[in-house]
Amino acid sequence: MGSRPSRSTRHALATAGRGILLATTTAVALVAHGAALAAQASPYTATLLRDVRGLAHAVPGPLPVAIGYLSMQDDSSAVSDAVEGGPKTRIFEVTPAFQVRYPAGSIMVDAGMDREAAGGASGFRQDAFDRILAACRKAGLIVATHEHLDHVGGVVRSPAAAEVAPKTLLTRAQVQTLVSNPKAAGIALDSAAARRYLVVDYDRLLPIGPGVVLIRAPGHTPGSQMVYVRLASGQEVILAGDIAWHMSGIEQQRQKPDTTSRQMGENRTQIGEELAWLKNTVLPAGIAVAVSHDGTELQDLVRRGFLHPGLDVGGS
Ligand SMILES: [Zn+2]
Repeated sequence: MGSRPSRSTRHALATAGRGILLATTTAVALVAHGAALAAQASPYTATLLRDVRGLAHAVPGPLPVAIGYLSMQDDSSAVSDAVEGGPKTRIFEVTPAFQVRYPAGSIMVDAGMDREAAGGASGFRQDAFDRILAACRKAGLIVATHEHLDHVGGVVRSPAAAEVAPKTLLTRAQVQTLVSNPKAAGIALDSAAARRYLVVDYDRLLPIGPGVVLIRAPGHTPGSQMVYVRLASGQEVILAGDIAWHMSGIEQQRQKPDTTSRQMGENRTQIGEELAWLKNTVLPAGIAVAVSHDGTELQDLVRRGFLHPGLDVGGS
C-alpha cells in the first residue's frame, strides 16, 4: 500500500501531456503489484505446483506404478456433518491407508487405527486393519497425512508400531502434536517413544521417493501435509488427507461445519487457501485429488484409473 501514488500525484499525471499513458501504466503496475501481494499471501500458487512437479524427479528411480488403498472402517454420515451448509444426504465414509507401489517396494501413506481406537464402531474391519499393518511391515517407508488417530494409529499404537517406527517418517509438527497436544489419549507419545521415529522438518516441499513429494499443509492439524504422487503412466494424484472430508468441500469451497472445526482447533484461513489451490490450480491441471474419507470419490478414482482397490502384501 505504501507505494500507492497520492491523489495529487495521480492528478498531476492525468493532466500532463502524456499523463493518460503514464496513469494507465501506473494503474497496470498497481494491479500487478496487488496480484503479487495476493499471491504472496497464500503459499499455494501455480509456482508451488510447478515446483512439486519438478521435485517428482528429484529422487532418481522408476516411478510408482500404482496407488492402492484399503479402508479399515466403513461408515456413513450426512454431508452436513462433513461440509458446512451441506445437505442431509447420507454419504459413504471410509478410513483408508494408501500404498504407493513401485516395481520393487512401496511407501505407505497413513496406517488406520485398531478396533479399540475406533471405539468399537460397527463398521470396523479387523481383516482390513491386519492387512494395513502387513502392508506397513512390508513398506520401505511410511508417512502420515496428519497426526490424528485414524491416520497414525497403526504406527503409534498397534502390534506393528515398534517394528515400523524406524521407517515411519513423521514431521516435527506431527511429533509435537503427538507429544504435547494429542487429540486422543491413545496416541500420546512421550519424547523417548518419539525418538524411535524418523523425524523431519521442512518448509514447503520434501521429495521422499521417485514421483513422491510431501507438501506442507497445516490447518486441519499443525502437522498436516498432502502427498503428491506421479505415476509411471503420467497420471498424478494428490492424497489430501482431511483438508476436506468430502469432495464437495473442495468443489464448493466449503469447509467443515464451524463448530466441528473449532473443536478440532483447525486453522480455517490455512484450510481456505488449500481448498482454493486444490480447486483452482490442482484439479484444472488434471491432477486427481483423493480426499481420505470420501468413499464414493475414492471409488470414482478407481473407475478413472488413478487408484486401485486393496493393498499388495504378497511376496517379499
Ligand atoms: Zn481422518
